[in-house]
Amino acid sequence: MSEEPAENVSGGADGGGVEAEFAAGAPETRAEAVVDALGDMYWQKAYGGRDAFPCLVRTILSQNTSDTASQPAFDALLDRYDDGTDLAATLAAADRETLADTIASAGLYNQKSRVIVDAAAEIVADFGGADAFDDFVREGDPDAVRDRLLDIHGVGPKTADCVLLFSGGRGGVFPVDTHVHRIARRLGVAPPDADHEGVREALESAVPTEKCGFGHTAMIQFGREYCSARTPACLDGPEACPLADLCDRVGVDPASAVVVDPADAADRDELR
Ligand code: SF4
Repeated sequence: MSEEPAENVSGGADGGGVEAEFAAGAPETRAEAVVDALGDMYWQKAYGGRDAFPCLVRTILSQNTSDTASQPAFDALLDRYDDGTDLAATLAAADRETLADTIASAGLYNQKSRVIVDAAAEIVADFGGADAFDDFVREGDPDAVRDRLLDIHGVGPKTADCVLLFSGGRGGVFPVDTHVHRIARRLGVAPPDADHEGVREALESAVPTEKCGFGHTAMIQFGREYCSARTPACLDGPEACPLADLCDRVGVDPASAVVVDPADAADRDELR
């Protein structure tokens, strides 16, 4: 079984979840069968317990970039600003340009530095600091926590769900990033024209609560290794993809090597 990569939004080497075993047996949905297969290929883990504010910062840095680009930015941010006092208070008072320089490797650093400073200031103003924010994320009603996170400027559904999962340890949360959005619709376990929220709803209703977390991280790994945006492995034949038996290949036609977004496959009979 593969190890979860250290450069990973779930927390890297010291926070990438803990090994867990989940009930084997007959999956009740195809989405659950997919997650079970990913669990056999990669890892079965439970997540939670990361401090909420650093988790929020880490996830903001990961927006629109790869984990290999954002992890060094996060490490540099902690090196410069995590002095053992309240990180939210420290970042709320940080010089924005210095912060932007510090996180440059993550890309969009001006925008991300603004979001981080403003979010830190909001958390200090509303919660008093990072510890109280952490308590709220871990103990608050999940819907209320999600809504509050979404109220923070620059925090979208994926970021909010990653904080709920990796800090709050909330079951039944299946964050949808670009890999999950693409793969779930290609597989046919979410509607081809579903947006990110539609894919999230489809997966969270079809995958058991305890399997959603590693379903998210393992599906991202699967996207990197097999079901990439432009060259899904099955273009080389079904034997090239370990999930071929579970997949509708919506938008993928190995015969013609044509790959389109699943939402566009409805216009092309051969790709449905
Ligand atoms: S069969 Fe093709 S489209 Fe389906 S999961 Fe595998 S690589 Fe992706």
